[in-house]
Amino acid sequence: MGLKEECGVFGIFDIDEAAVLTTLGLHSLQHRGQEGAGIVSYDGSSFHFVKKEGLVGDNFNNASTLNQLPGRRAIGHVRYSTTGDSKLANVQPLFANLSAGGFACAHNGNLTNTHALRNALVETGSIFQTTSDTEIILQLVARSKKHKTVDKIKDALSQIKGAYSLIIMTNKKLIGVKDPFGIRPLVLGKKNNAYVLASETCALDIIGAHYIRDVKNGEMVIITESGVESIIIAPSNQARPCIFERIYFARPDSIIDGKSVYTYRKNLGEQLAIENPIDADVVVPVPDSGAPAAIGYSQKSGIPFELGIIRNHYVGRTFIEPSQSIRQFGVKLKHSVNQSSIKNNRVILIDDSIVRGTTANKVVKMVFEAGAKEVHFGISSPPITHPDFYGIDTPQYSELIAANHDIDEITNIIGATSVFFLSLNGTYKAMGYTTRDPNTPQFTDHCFTGDYPIDVTNILKHTHS
Ligand code: AMP
Repeated sequence: MGLKEECGVFGIFDIDEAAVLTTLGLHSLQHRGQEGAGIVSYDGSSFHFVKKEGLVGDNFNNASTLNQLPGRRAIGHVRYSTTGDSKLANVQPLFANLSAGGFACAHNGNLTNTHALRNALVETGSIFQTTSDTEIILQLVARSKKHKTVDKIKDALSQIKGAYSLIIMTNKKLIGVKDPFGIRPLVLGKKNNAYVLASETCALDIIGAHYIRDVKNGEMVIITESGVESIIIAPSNQARPCIFERIYFARPDSIIDGKSVYTYRKNLGEQLAIENPIDADVVVPVPDSGAPAAIGYSQKSGIPFELGIIRNHYVGRTFIEPSQSIRQFGVKLKHSVNQSSIKNNRVILIDDSIVRGTTANKVVKMVFEAGAKEVHFGISSPPITHPDFYGIDTPQYSELIAANHDIDEITNIIGATSVFFLSLNGTYKAMGYTTRDPNTPQFTDHCFTGDYPIDVTNILKHTHS
């Protein structure tokens, strides 16, 4: 089974063809989840929704679907299940008719206290229709004794713990919220007079919207016909956005904190070259994830950058998974070696991360088979020693290669000449900091350190990690 990724969210308030713009926004966020997509629109009197399994472009890019989503307001979601099964019922946005009217909610992130909350809700009569943790938010909003929707949401959020960037649509409002640590991203933008909320700025670019600012940690932005209002819903603490967004998840052309993700990744590669100078002939990225860091490594070290591995972009899950006879060709379906830049060379392969070690294992073998004299494997982030519980859902401890093996063992397992990782401080340097603040780190970097800003003991109890 492949790794599970996160989700992407998008919302737009008051513009013609809101569902078309949402489709485009979701398409640009497709890298955040490919399992399913959904859009809820509001036409001034009714809510409409369409949910599909599969890709946005395959499912929403046609008049008959878009005609089912009339109105000037819409929110959408792309999903790669983090909790819950990946069936259609779990595809978001989730929608409920509450006492005050329709309520649609799209969630990126993962809650950490769901077991207790879900049990308490079920015991007191709640009926759940999905296995998604997001439905708990809906149930808590529905049952809140507060009168105003915003207060109901605040009430619900005060009971949940974990990572959440939410976009909510009611018959009057479009609302964006980030959890108190701001773990997952959420940005505010504007297209003409219409406000837009999205996981990443690439979703603003595609519809010609301009970026206004990031939603802050613990902030709720409320968009109505009279404009935007901001309220703080959580006690203030320093934001700790997930460092992995910059290392792997976000699209390279998205802007975070004023810089492109591409720049951060190039910096990571440069820093890797500073920390690990290697005598070699070519620097080769593991496509596509390793490309920006490999460019950085190459530019810093002066070793030429070559495309030594070519990726076939048309390998979908449907091709790989069903047939054992096809599956056994494994990585060759996805990657092939460009012998002309590999043969007789000392090669430095660069990727952004090693999780289970599967990719590294396969590409190192392929590159040796193509005649490389040496294959050094450089990773532009520290070893992943701890699982994520905030929406990425990396595998459990037992499957994380770096949680169970030191660098020498990893080198042996993947069969490389050498393996080298970027240091934790080097990672912070690449992000523009002189060092990691040991008291309150500027990011959540739990995958590398085990420093979880939100308690995860409850989750650990309920997983076999
Ligand atoms: P693995 O093959 O299990 O070691 O995974 C490492 C590869 O997966 C690298 O090429 C990464 O770019 C990529 N990767 C890292 N994190 C994730 C994730 N959460 N979901 C999908 N791919 C990932």
